[in-house]
Amino acid sequence: MAPKKTDATTPCSKCAGTMTINMIQPLPMEPDFMQHTFVCAACGEVAKFKFRKG
Ligand SMILES: [Zn+2]
Repeated sequence: MAPKKTDATTPCSKCAGTMTINMIQPLPMEPDFMQHTFVCAACGEVAKFKFRKG
């Protein structure tokens, strides 16, 4: 399940762990969006989600 823009954590898709937000960065090709990167502390899985600004 995809997180909401304000979520600081999201369930890991690979294991039963919790992914924590690691980085928020702009997308040069999509200036209306920010990319939120989550990393799972348990297995190291990385997931990136795009959210519209504002
Ligand atoms: Zn995991």
